[in-house]
Amino acid sequence: MKAKKSLGQNFLIDETIINNIVEQINANEDDLIIEIGPGRGALTKMLIGKKSHYIGYEIDNELIPILKKFVGNKIVIKNQDFLASDLTNDIKNITYNKLFIVGNLPYYITTPIIEHIINSKIKFEKLVIMVQKEVANRFMASCGAKDYGYMTLYLKYYFDIFKVCDVSKFSFNPVPKVESSVLSFSIRKNRPIVDENKYFEFLKACFKQKRKTLKNNIGNIKFEKIKKILLKNNIMENVRAEEINEELFILLFNELNKNN
Ligand code: SAM
Repeated sequence: MKAKKSLGQNFLIDETIINNIVEQINANEDDLIIEIGPGRGALTKMLIGKKSHYIGYEIDNELIPILKKFVGNKIVIKNQDFLASDLTNDIKNITYNKLFIVGNLPYYITTPIIEHIINSKIKFEKLVIMVQKEVANRFMASCGAKDYGYMTLYLKYYFDIFKVCDVSKFSFNPVPKVESSVLSFSIRKNRPIVDENKYFEFLKACFKQKRKTLKNNIGNIKFEKIKKILLKNNIMENVRAEEINEELFILLFNELNKNN
C-alpha cells in the first residue's frame, strides 16, 4: 500500500527511535495510552506490550485492517480524525490511573493537535510526540533566541518540555524532506493567570511584528501603563518582545489588567 503524502504518512522504520519513544511511556497495566496516527503500527506493537488500556486514532481507513490485528479487551482502534475526537467522552468509561499520549504526528497538524489536547482539558502524565526539528527549536527556544516567540510562550505556559532525541529523516519510509525531533511534554503545576485567553491575546499582540519594538506592537497607551515595570527590571524602552522572559510578560500583563 502506497504511503499517502496528504496524510503525512512517513512511517518509522528505525528500531532505535521506536525504542526511544516507547521507553518514555512508562505506563503500567492500570494506565491508559492514547496513540495519535498509529499508521502501520510501528509504535503500537511495542505500546500494547505494556498491557495498558490503549486507544489509537487513525484517520486512514485503509490502515485499519493492519491495526485490527492488535486485538484485546483493553485495545480500541478508532478510524477517526483525532482533531474531531471528543477525548473526554472517549475515555470516560475507562478506569485508569495515568494517561500517556504519544504519536509520530503528521507535521502539518502539529499545532492543532496540541491545541486540541489543551482545549480538551484532560490531564495527562506525558505527551510524547515527533515534530519537525525547526518546530521543536521554536517550541523550546530560550528568551532572546531567534526562534523565541508566541508559540514558545504559549506552550511554556502549559508544559515543561524536554527533547528526547533528534531523528534523522532516514529513520522514516518514505524519507521526508525535513529532520525531526521527539519531544516530551508534561503539564506544569502552577498556572498563574486567571484570564488565560486574554494573556495569549496580549502575547500575540506583543509579537505581532517581530522586528518592531514592543511599544510599536502594543501601542503607546498600553506601553505607558507598563513602562515603569520595564524600567524597574532594567529594560530599555526600545525593547522587543523576543527579549522579554515569561516571568516579565506575566508581570506586564498583570499590570495592564489590574483595576485602578
Ligand atoms: N505512527 C506511525 C509510525 O510511526 O510509523 C505512522 C506515523 S505517520 C507520520 C502519521 C499517521 O497519522 C498516518 O498513519 C496518518 O494516516 C495518520 N493521520 C494523519 N492525520 C490524522 C488525523 N487527523 N487523525 C488521526 N490520524 C491521522
